Amino acid sequence: MAETSEGLTSTSDPQHVVICGAGVIGSCTAYYLAKRGARVTVVEKTAAACAASGKAGGFLALDWCDGGPLGNLARASFQLHAQLADELDGASYGYRKVDTLSVSIDESARASGRPSAGSSAPEWVTGPAKSAKPIGSTKTTAQVHPELFTKKVLSVAVEKYGAKFMIGEAQELNVELDGLVPRVKGLFVDGELIEADSVVISMGPWSATNKLVSALTTISPLKAHSIVLRPKPEAAITPHALFLTYRTKEGVTMDPEIYPRPTGEVYVCGMSEETTLPSVADQIFPKKQSIAMLQRVAATVSSHLGDAEMVTEQACFLPCSEDSLPVIGKLPNVEGAYVATGHSCWGILNAPATGAALAELITDGVSNTVNLKAFDPARFSKPVSAYFGKSTA
Ligand SMILES: Cc1cc2nc3c(=O)[nH]c(=O)nc-3n(C[C@H](O)[C@H](O)[C@H](O)COP(=O)(O)OP(=O)(O)OC[C@H]3O[C@@H](n4cnc5c(N)ncnc54)[C@H](O)[C@@H]3O)c2cc1C
Repeated sequence: MAETSEGLTSTSDPQHVVICGAGVIGSCTAYYLAKRGARVTVVEKTAAACAASGKAGGFLALDWCDGGPLGNLARASFQLHAQLADELDGASYGYRKVDTLSVSIDESARASGRPSAGSSAPEWVTGPAKSAKPIGSTKTTAQVHPELFTKKVLSVAVEKYGAKFMIGEAQELNVELDGLVPRVKGLFVDGELIEADSVVISMGPWSATNKLVSALTTISPLKAHSIVLRPKPEAAITPHALFLTYRTKEGVTMDPEIYPRPTGEVYVCGMSEETTLPSVADQIFPKKQSIAMLQRVAATVSSHLGDAEMVTEQACFLPCSEDSLPVIGKLPNVEGAYVATGHSCWGILNAPATGAALAELITDGVSNTVNLKAFDPARFSKPVSAYFGKSTA
């Protein structure tokens, strides 16, 4: 008889779920699965939060995805982030509510040295801001430090709920026929078989290195750059997230983002490009020109950021699906095989509801936190005739 975290008792052994990848998606899935009483092993190739989940902005929005298939996932996740912050000491991983502004900056305009009269821009935006208007309030926008958040949920999964964390390369699934049904029996890690009842592939842009995922769909990697600055304390940077429409003096328009953090640091990101994904996260290096451009943006927006110490220069890859929606759920045709990826630019926001819903699907066969239908991997299944070159018409 086993006792679960909810105080329930169960007569059967808990199922063993192996999660591949300790980014924010794998870590949140581990947290909710272990909390529900599953036996969880997380396999990570390099280090927890070593990729996009450690290098993202960590911006969260309640209603920015309303009106589309992501709306419910985002709303549920925003609420779960607030709940997790209560339960797990959100201040320890930089959770706070923020005001958010859309700011239009033109390098060719003369900097006034202070915000223009009537502008919503905070005092520390000293650059040539043509307009600054509120697009989110402390009721609808918030932030976390993504690396600290990811490591926090993973460590609670391990220390409080008994999940196991190991460094190793997740390779192919061991699938055997159970009667006529192909069923997961385990996963090869560094050539050794780990027995498992279910396996979750949550390896971000590397998810398609798994043959079952790549046979179904494409996950495209998109590289983006970021810097972390430490302005002097007298800069008095307020908790305002800035979404910029930025025009260079050469006439190029781009849309970088600036997120001050409770640590006093300021995160700036942008400069995306399609390029090859290295096989390991620690082989991803930023491009000098992209970092220089982000520094130029920061210095133009605020003289305080121009004077700031450079703390980090980095790059990482967004996992992008074929139809721009996450791919969350059971892989078709193989019992016990699950995937959770394709979260693109909203993975930090959407990780809690992804993890909670997937944990319910794996343990109960149905997800209640959010309806995963729009994200079902089976939407990419080809009709059987496609494999034989026949038309369905
Ligand atoms: C510049 C930038 C800013 C962003 N800002 C925000 C934001 O403000 N808000 C927001 O919601 N989202 C943001 N995002 C998006 C967010 O970062 C991603 O959607 C999210 O981090 C994806 O998480 P993941 O766990 O799927 O993948 P990843 O973080 O990429 O993690 C995948 C993990 O799998 C591991 N792995 C790979 N291969 C194997 C293997 N064979 N075996 C075991 N492990 C393996 C990797 O080492 C890695 O740790 C931003 C992204 C970028 C690039």
